[in-house]
Amino acid sequence: MSTSDDNVCSHVKVVIRVRPENRKEQEGKYRRVVHVVDKHVLVFDPKEEEFSFFRGHKSKHRDISKRQNKDLKFVFDGVFDENATQLDIFEHTTKTIIDGFLNGYNCTVLAYGATGAGKTHTMLGLPSEPGVMYLTMMDLYRRIDQIKDEKLCEIAVSYLEVYNEQIHDLLSNSGPLAVREDSQKGVIVQGLTLHQPKSAECILELLDYGNKNRTQHPTDLNATSSRSHAVFQIYLRQRDRTASINQNVRIAKMSLIDLAGSERISAANGKRICFREGANINRSLLALGNVINVLADSKSKKQHIPYRNSKLTRLLKDSLGGNCRTVMIAAVSPSSLSYEDIYNTLKYANQAKEIRSSLRSNVLSLDSHISQYAKICEQQKREIMMLKEKLKAYEEEKVAVPESRRLSLLAISSQQQAALERFEEILKSLFMNRAEIRRDCLKLEMQFKVNKLKAFHQAQYYHRIQLLHPEEQAEKATCKRERRLASLEAQQVQIERRKQEVENNFEENNNWLHRVENEMRLLSQNGHIPPVLHKDLQLCHLQLEVKDLRQQIEHMMYLISLQEQENKRSGRLMDTLLPAFHKQYRALKEAELVNHSIDSAFMEVKQLVQPVKGVVWADQTVEEELEPKYCEQLDFSKVLAFSYLVFKQNTPCNSYYTGVKLTKFFPTDSEKR
Ligand code: ADP
Ligand code: MG
Repeated sequence: MSTSDDNVCSHVKVVIRVRPENRKEQEGKYRRVVHVVDKHVLVFDPKEEEFSFFRGHKSKHRDISKRQNKDLKFVFDGVFDENATQLDIFEHTTKTIIDGFLNGYNCTVLAYGATGAGKTHTMLGLPSEPGVMYLTMMDLYRRIDQIKDEKLCEIAVSYLEVYNEQIHDLLSNSGPLAVREDSQKGVIVQGLTLHQPKSAECILELLDYGNKNRTQHPTDLNATSSRSHAVFQIYLRQRDRTASINQNVRIAKMSLIDLAGSERISAANGKRICFREGANINRSLLALGNVINVLADSKSKKQHIPYRNSKLTRLLKDSLGGNCRTVMIAAVSPSSLSYEDIYNTLKYANQAKEIRSSLRSNVLSLDSHISQYAKICEQQKREIMMLKEKLKAYEEEKVAVPESRRLSLLAISSQQQAALERFEEILKSLFMNRAEIRRDCLKLEMQFKVNKLKAFHQAQYYHRIQLLHPEEQAEKATCKRERRLASLEAQQVQIERRKQEVENNFEENNNWLHRVENEMRLLSQNGHIPPVLHKDLQLCHLQLEVKDLRQQIEHMMYLISLQEQENKRSGRLMDTLLPAFHKQYRALKEAELVNHSIDSAFMEVKQLVQPVKGVVWADQTVEEELEPKYCEQLDFSKVLAFSYLVFKQNTPCNSYYTGVKLTKFFPTDSEKR
């Protein structure tokens, strides 16, 4: 279990990594402009008199008469100086979201910074010091091994680059790939190859192979700088070993991204860089910045998030904000040589800190099939069981703790003890308030969905009435329907308004929580929340999650019952229609009035009443044994119109994530570029 706060914090985690000075910076007349104060705080462009880490000489930038020191203090989730190892970075960044990943959340780790700041070093690293991409895979394998008795896990990876607003597979030789969205599978890059490395060496080879395929353009700033965004994605599919009708399958995606340099093109002295390239690099990075801005702006909940503005943001649409866990590692040089770049990177990172991912209900959209609701219910029930177990463990620990806690408390002053108790009280009332807000919010979401479902059914009835009834009745039905829809719409507006209020309350509660967390951090010297309070905090979050899930299950059951009622109605209609239809057909046949179109319509109906085979769910592979479990619904309006259609028939796919067959692990030489 992760020991970080990340499980309980809902905001995006932002850490800064300051790399060691390179030779040019050491030997030139530059000074250090980043002072790492502690694990969370750094000062940019500190006042000279306060810090003694300047070299003997002053750089040309340091003409005090010309420029005041900015002396800006920044607080981040983590600040790492030049002595931090790759493992330090991994442990405080990606590792903290692996729990979420194993629980089925999409996760994203972004390395941001100017060219030469240390992004590639952090993400990819060197063979002797492999970076986050490799360390993540190794940790995942370890974690999967720990749960192998309960879960069947499969991992696959892909590696692509976004260059000039085009996506290229770094692991296979192909042309630019298209990105599209699938309501079930999320964002998909068509034709992207997936690979299943079997060992640590294979991962390193794969990364190395992919990296060699990256588009590299030397610039004046850094001879091996890359102008492309490199995206390494890990797909994890988990299935419970215990077989059940409703297989509990989770698929999650982790994106580890080495972004292109964030410096302005002009700074790279890139006069000869073709315009298209420059414009496109900025497009993806700018778009990412815009998406971050909108996600970060708490007042813009309703605002449109401009994912579609670039390939990179389209690719990350299901991996940024919302329910996703995101970590940003902003890399900076320590030297005044990169003064503007450092300043810009710190400002950008500071902005990213504000992104809050909201607790969002996982209830599927309305057009989901009932079996999917049932599946989700099952999954959520399991999640509740798991949370309950965790909760029990915490509670037991809490009961068992008093002795050890008493001993540890002896070491702290009674004043600190009082502070701990005060925070416990604060947390209690804070979470009571939070639970109320969540309850209201889910209730409103539920009302909203029920209304939508009603409107959907209204539309269906109306359509059928129009097919059967004479004009006059159809007109009456239209009036009635319009009145109903108007009233539903008015209700929806009302609900939206109330939801906004509730969301504001949640936001307030969130701010309150962040304030309390910060205050709790002040209690200890290391800047962490004291362990006792950290546990309390986790307990509170878990309790809330359990409540949340329970309520969601209740809501889903209700939605299922509504859909079931509707299904019964449709079943009755079908039972009446089919014999009538058959009788009519026979009568026409006897009278020799059956023409070709009537005949083929009848044949189609005959076929459609057979059980449907070959429907593949989003989370099923065709390799899995498919039983004809669920018969798809027939659309009765079409029955009436003598033509049928299978409702929502999914096309079979080869693979569960991208519709791409797992290719051979390594492309053959002839396939290489
Ligand atoms: P970027 O990908 O941001 O352009 P790189 O990761 O290529 O930058 O880093 C530029 C240079 O600095 C490389 O030679 C790299 O090895 C070195 N470097 C970066 N970060 C570190 C670090 N934390 N420790 C040691 N060397 C580093
Ligand atoms: Mg790089």
